[in-house]
Amino acid sequence: MLRDQDRIFTNIYGFADAGLKGARARGDWDGTKALIAKGREQIVEEVKASELRGRGGAGFSTGMKWSFMPKEVGPRPHYLVINADEGEPGTCKDREILRHEPHKLIEGALLSAVGIGAHAAYCYVRGEFYRETEVLERAVDEAYDAGLIGADACGSGWAFDFYVHRGAGAYICGEESALIESLEGRKGQPRLKPPFPANVGLYGCPSTVNNVESIAVVPEILRRGAAWFAGLGRPRNTGVKLFNISGHVEQPCTVEEEMGIPLRELIEKHAGGVRGGWDNLQAVIPGGSSVPVLPKSICDSVRMDFDSLHEVKSGLGTAAVIVMDRSTDVVRAIARLSKFYKHESCGQCTPCREGTGWMWRMMERMVEGRAGVEEIDLLDEVTRQVEGHTICALGDAAAWPIQGLIRHFRPELERRIVERQVAGEGKAA
Ligand code: SF4
Repeated sequence: MLRDQDRIFTNIYGFADAGLKGARARGDWDGTKALIAKGREQIVEEVKASELRGRGGAGFSTGMKWSFMPKEVGPRPHYLVINADEGEPGTCKDREILRHEPHKLIEGALLSAVGIGAHAAYCYVRGEFYRETEVLERAVDEAYDAGLIGADACGSGWAFDFYVHRGAGAYICGEESALIESLEGRKGQPRLKPPFPANVGLYGCPSTVNNVESIAVVPEILRRGAAWFAGLGRPRNTGVKLFNISGHVEQPCTVEEEMGIPLRELIEKHAGGVRGGWDNLQAVIPGGSSVPVLPKSICDSVRMDFDSLHEVKSGLGTAAVIVMDRSTDVVRAIARLSKFYKHESCGQCTPCREGTGWMWRMMERMVEGRAGVEEIDLLDEVTRQVEGHTICALGDAAAWPIQGLIRHFRPELERRIVERQVAGEGKAA
């Protein structure tokens, strides 16, 4: 279990002041000028050495991503873009940072900007986060007034501006290139890659898009050292992480824990356990709605990190743990997610636009058992036709929950179909 002295987000529940005074009391903005003085190369090297992997879902090395930016700043300025469009069902970790720890994000943005040679950061906040935006904007004003950001950030000579932009509530704007399109004032639709944002990003300039949590942990990594962060968690899956635990647990919560904590320990220590006890558990979606569901037999022992969950054919995603006890109709639950992805598809590419609708309609029939047993394989085949054949990862996100359902709950799908058939035959007789 994570020791208190290793916590980064010490005000994640908002018990203390979110403003500058409170943030300073917690150690934010402490020695930031000296951290800036480390310079671009050293900042990138330290973040690389910490083995921080992006907290938005993909889990790519943050330091490595920064190193893709051009080494020299040419006529096109560099931009840092912060993805605060937290729309993944079950996920509410960045929201807590925005409303209770905004100064960690702003300080992190300044240091990350130095790391990529940028003098401006654009924070794209989910439209529904109205109050969170207010808190963030207040914190930005405080930081400007105190000279922590602006023309001479922290007296370092580095100019840095922080812009807050509210989206309009489309899930797809959480995809980095759709987010950039939306920031530029266009319809939020993902771009074909390449070119990648590090070459052609916001306003056609080199840009790096990072998740809120990835940025907010940077100051502590630089202050306490990469070795401290890398010493937490497990190899290749280092550091601390915010987990959201929701669904059929006694106390749904957001909690900061070490990467690699066993799922069972996470639920029992922090969320009061599964409703009705661990044996009442049916399934868990471990990383937000887009990752494959896991049955209890795997949940008994799996660890919560990128590699462990990948080994059991699921993913850490956003680390939003959705717990379903035995009272849950797991087929209906996944069908509801299919409806969500169908609704959120931007419609740009055919496999996603058409496939998400097909998958949803087939899932609705599966819920009622209104299908043939052989159609389970057909449904699986449809998910394979969508997965990997689309411009962005929304197609995969729509396919994976169904694949997980078929992998682990096929008998449940078959039972419904057979029961309906038997009932139909009975009526006919
Ligand atoms: Fe749009 Fe879906 Fe294609 Fe992504 S995969 S670009 S959401 S149609």
